[in-house]
Amino acid sequence: MTGEPSVSAPGQGCTCPHPWHSLTTVIEGITHGVVPAPAHTPALYLAHCTGCGALYTGPWKRLNSFFHAA
Ligand SMILES: [Zn+2]
Repeated sequence: MTGEPSVSAPGQGCTCPHPWHSLTTVIEGITHGVVPAPAHTPALYLAHCTGCGALYTGPWKRLNSFFHAA
């Protein structure tokens, strides 16, 4: 019970305590860390939860983008 409001994240298959806390995607055989993106972004690849392996069908962005989120 964290008191956080329920977020209707796309793809409700994650069973982790913090759903979609850590995501990865495999692009051309290389695993990249990604995070859920608030807005629609062109996602050419599917991302998976690193915790339970659930498929994340929503938009995401690469962690190592030029925009650094603290
Ligand atoms: Zn998960």
